Amino acid sequence: MPHVITQACCGDASCVYACPVNCIHPTPDEPDFGTAEMLYIDPATCVDCGACVTACPVGAIAPGHRLTDEQQRFAQVNAAQYDADLFATDIRFPVDMGKRLPLAPVTAPVPLRAGPQHVAIVGSGPSAMYAADELLRLPTVTVTMYERLSAPYGLARFGVAPDHTATRTVMRLFDDVARHPRLRILLDCEIGRDLTLEELRERHDAVLWAGGAPTDRTLDIPGTDAAGYTCATSVVGWYNDHPDFAGERFDLSGDRTVIIGNGNVALDVARILTADPDDLESTTISRTALAALRESRVGEVLVVARRGPLQAAFTLPELIGLADHRPGTVDIIVDAADLEGVTADPDDVTEREKLALLRELAGREPTAGAPRIRFAFGLAPREILTAGGRVTGVRFARNTIGADGTATPTGGTVDVDAGLVLSSIGYHGVAVPGLPFDERRGIIPNDEGRVMDGDSPVPGVYVTGWIKRGPTGFIGTNKTDSARTIAAWRADVERGVGVPARR
Ligand code: NAP
Repeated sequence: MPHVITQACCGDASCVYACPVNCIHPTPDEPDFGTAEMLYIDPATCVDCGACVTACPVGAIAPGHRLTDEQQRFAQVNAAQYDADLFATDIRFPVDMGKRLPLAPVTAPVPLRAGPQHVAIVGSGPSAMYAADELLRLPTVTVTMYERLSAPYGLARFGVAPDHTATRTVMRLFDDVARHPRLRILLDCEIGRDLTLEELRERHDAVLWAGGAPTDRTLDIPGTDAAGYTCATSVVGWYNDHPDFAGERFDLSGDRTVIIGNGNVALDVARILTADPDDLESTTISRTALAALRESRVGEVLVVARRGPLQAAFTLPELIGLADHRPGTVDIIVDAADLEGVTADPDDVTEREKLALLRELAGREPTAGAPRIRFAFGLAPREILTAGGRVTGVRFARNTIGADGTATPTGGTVDVDAGLVLSSIGYHGVAVPGLPFDERRGIIPNDEGRVMDGDSPVPGVYVTGWIKRGPTGFIGTNKTDSARTIAAWRADVERGVGVPARR
């Protein structure tokens, strides 16, 4: 059977370039790449060579006959993108091969014509590591990386859930980059505290800001100052031993936790809060968090979205991961009423599959006594309900969802009891003193990674990752993003444009 890409797909597209028959799509130069929830192997074109398995940094690819029970559904997910019949034997090229290049285009690094360059990278998360990797392909470039924490790799270390062990192996790839003799990583070094941005600019030919989006979007409703309300990303930091969250304590004594927002962060947190602690024992989870989870009384995590199932922010691979992980140990509950009259766009394969899986979940019989992750749709948070300064629940306004996905309040409300309320409504970038900032989007304004002050580029200063494009995409999305920024930097260096004379 052909190879199959599974849940851990990080989207860094290394597999695309390794594939000798160009059967993995979308490729970074195809229009769907920016919006795809994962990459897919065309089962009719795959020649089963395994080159993609070797290239994948997170072990997300397996031969079809070696899929685990939990991964089985991904064979269909891959095939569906190509309209291929997984079990047909008489087809070879069901897609229009005339539209495809026989091989994904690979560009060999051309040495810089400009002299040696010393580049500073601020941050050491995925976008920083991919940028360093790209820069170090050029033999006359040296890189110094500045990381404020005492351990590198940002969200790859402190953001990926501990039970996503395959995804966390991307750090091995970053270890390889970190060992490069022309890369120096300075830990415990914060720009703005230990060095100013100006000093950094004076010491390097260019500065690449890859500081990510370190805060949360805030929910602007009454009651968010009560004890028992916090953001889901604090829980993520806590269970991943992030030093900023090591001292956090969450009240897990109530039966229900409500998570507002239904992106992949919400799913990660819901999964960890309902997991059997014994299953987490062998992971990298913080031992403090594990001890707290052993004492937890949380029986239900309610994941609430203000819009409908078709607008759900979680991705299909993550929903499959929830649905198929040891069925019976945690119930995933979907109310069939939320799916009534909902129809997927017939041309949107991912939407079709997501809706079909939600319907399947709505039809499952719950297991008596198992912890539950329950999805709710069409409920916008209005107020955190409190008593004596503590959270007691959430008041939601009911919405109807239009065909275009917009939410309109019906005028009705519903109150839900909860002992802990977490908002999971996205990350937000923070301003960097001395650089322009777009407060609404939480990004540093830029043109293909060149920092822009109005219409003028800030000489020698570039951005990549979430602070460049906003908090979207997967770990590997940063590879393409950083390559684009480095291409812009390179064009400037070669033309001598926008490059500051080093003082
Ligand atoms: P996200 O995907 O942007 O989801 C944010 C959620 O918050 C959406 O449901 C959104 O609903 C809702 N929301 C926003 N403002 C709201 C408000 N005022 N009131 C109520 N709901 C509100 O954010 P995320 O979960 O933090 O994820 C960030 C990125 O990291 C995503 O690209 C995600 O895929 C990625 N990530 C991936 C993984 C993984 O692959 N395992 C794990 C974690 C994170 P609307 O759509 O209605 O705005």
